Amino acid sequence: MQLGGVLISESRIADAVGKLADRVSRDYDLSRVVLVGVMDGAVCFLSDLMRAFGEPVDVTTVRMRRYDGTEGGEVTVSLLPPRDRIEGREVLIVEDIVDTGETCAVLSERLSELGAASIDVCALLDKPSRRTHDVKATYIGFEAPDVFVVGYGMDCDGVYRNLRDVCVLEGGESELN
Ligand code: 5GP
Ligand code: MG
Repeated sequence: MQLGGVLISESRIADAVGKLADRVSRDYDLSRVVLVGVMDGAVCFLSDLMRAFGEPVDVTTVRMRRYDGTEGGEVTVSLLPPRDRIEGREVLIVEDIVDTGETCAVLSERLSELGAASIDVCALLDKPSRRTHDVKATYIGFEAPDVFVVGYGMDCDGVYRNLRDVCVLEGGESELN
């Protein structure tokens, strides 16, 4: 697949990340928060978001993947943090995109089993039209149409994560809210 146009520019992303960090800082006592970044897609978003906070914040990551790499395959978590890292904490899952919601739903369940005091999601992008799982996602940067995007951490077969903008693949361009 060929790279299409820019859907969200680097400067709009930076602006949204700053606003999300401000909102989270207002809503939470950051000393009780742990950011759980979902690798690999959230790599850029997590690194920018955590540095946008004006005070120290606990940061960790998990790795999530679909068992067979296709839609409908089972979502599994690996590298889950130990219980003492999560128990009694306000957990903020940091995701690139909430699509069907399954990834966040599966991870929320695991974090809840580890004794999280609360769980919410902070995602750069949301595709609400595709949702099949109920997910609490209070902090969203942009609502995206149902197109496949790459860049700013998001890949297509491992490629394009290093693009500074969020782009669409050829033929998939459309309006962003
Ligand atoms: P969900 O479990 O919510 O359906 O899917 C979440 C994951 O699927 C996202 O974290 C992301 O890794 C991947 N995903 C969903 N939509 C896109 C997309 O448009 N582009 C890319 N690169 N990954 C996507
Ligand atoms: Mg992801």
